[in-house]
Amino acid sequence: MKPSLIAAYVALVLMPLGLLGWMGLRLAMDEQEIVRHRFRQLLQVGLQDTEEEIHKQLKGRTQSLLRTLESTPLKTDALRAMLAHSGLLRQVFVLGADCRRLHPPLDPPWTRAEREFLAQVEPAWPDLAALCRHRGPEGSNGAPARSGWKVWRSRDIHIVRWQRLDGGELVGLELDSTRLLADIIGSLPHDRMRGGRVALVDSVGEIVYQWGRYEPAPGELPRASLDLGPPLGAWKLVHYASAAEIDRALGSSMVYSLLAGLAVAAVLLLGLAVYFYRQSTRHIRDASERVSFVNRVSHELRTPLTNIRLYAEMLADSLPEDDERSHRRLDVVLSETRRLSRLIANVLTLGHKQKGQLALCTTPAVPDEIIRAVLAHFQPSLDARGIELRFEAGAERCVSVDTDALEQILGNLISNAERYAAEGGLVAIESRQKEDKTVVWVSDRGPGIPSRQRDKVFEAFHRVSDKLTDSSSGTGLGLAIARDLARMHGGDLTLESSEVGARFRVVLRTPAATPPER
Ligand code: ADP
Repeated sequence: MKPSLIAAYVALVLMPLGLLGWMGLRLAMDEQEIVRHRFRQLLQVGLQDTEEEIHKQLKGRTQSLLRTLESTPLKTDALRAMLAHSGLLRQVFVLGADCRRLHPPLDPPWTRAEREFLAQVEPAWPDLAALCRHRGPEGSNGAPARSGWKVWRSRDIHIVRWQRLDGGELVGLELDSTRLLADIIGSLPHDRMRGGRVALVDSVGEIVYQWGRYEPAPGELPRASLDLGPPLGAWKLVHYASAAEIDRALGSSMVYSLLAGLAVAAVLLLGLAVYFYRQSTRHIRDASERVSFVNRVSHELRTPLTNIRLYAEMLADSLPEDDERSHRRLDVVLSETRRLSRLIANVLTLGHKQKGQLALCTTPAVPDEIIRAVLAHFQPSLDARGIELRFEAGAERCVSVDTDALEQILGNLISNAERYAAEGGLVAIESRQKEDKTVVWVSDRGPGIPSRQRDKVFEAFHRVSDKLTDSSSGTGLGLAIARDLARMHGGDLTLESSEVGARFRVVLRTPAATPPER
């Protein structure tokens, strides 16, 4: 098998496979990106659920405090008693409708907790006073909000739930942050989550609580994070995912199915390649068997044909000169045997060429004598068709030439002129010798060869399809063989442009030779 054919088969299998693999990889990568995005969304949803749980806790606690406040008179004693009974409350303050502080009282005596509160509320006091004067944040209806959170840091974190009452007072409930955190943590999941870890991170970035078996590496970034709303605005929930958890989510099935798909495609393509290879080798084998059969038959035909020609020539010589009828009939026999000989010679030459066995056998000869001998053979049939044969001789020097090759080239060209250009009524041959070259022109006045066919007519088995060619039989070998022989002879066969008909130019390299002794 030729290396180029092997390369073509390899390319036939590898190229589509490579293309499929590339497209599959792109698809898998896109798919993985989508799955990764969905995975992040999933983690985010998990964090949102936890956040909701935290806020539900917070809301439940503050609502119960507010309900207690509703049933408590806004008096210092009652408020101090309420504070003493609540575990979650750290301090209560009340600003009157005129924004004067009602509780803790403006003047001492204060409890220790009240004194500490008053000392630590200092940085937040302007905001609280502004709230009281309705200059705080707006509610959903555009009016000043009736409740909200106020968080600030002094020595400790202060979380205050404020509420505007119907009487115009502003009440603030400061929650005990430690207790609040304990309550929140109490509401968080305790189950040991497989594969990942969720952490509650406070405002200074410290992990307050975490759950899940996975131990993130130092400096590992979380896969999802969610800021908690007020009053825990600076806090966040983060989710670290283990490689196993990510793999489970991404799923390796895509890669496996891609590989499986590629393997199936590879097997199919290989099967196809093997099938086509078998078909083509079968065709090549069949074709070469046919060629060798034709070669064998041609070879077998050559000997009887030579005998027929010899005996016909002998018969023609022995016939009386005046027996024109018999001479005419014998001329037809001779011209047909020569035509058949040319055909067989072309087929055998092609066979030799295909086997790489085409070789020249040069001997000293005079080209014009060879041309005259060929013309003599064609003369009767050309006469019968009314075609004039003109020969302008100019190659009389003895040279080294393959007589059979020159005869075959000229035979093919004149036979073509006879078949395709009979209507022109003329076949002109011209010969010249120049240094070590012999040039012979064969021209006719027939329809010529269309310019787009000028190169193609020299290809083996190519025939110009037109009325003229279709009506005459041929193999499409004549010009191809003639050109091969001319090229082997160090020259070429070309089609020259001419005003009418076709004009072929044969060039042969023919070094000067000494004439053989007769
Ligand atoms: P074949 O004659 O067996 O078809 P050739 O190789 O000798 O094969 O010629 C190839 C084609 O070139 C022919 O089929 C014919 O169409 C065209 N051709 C050759 N010689 C001539 C010519 N003298 N005039 C017109 N057409 C020609």
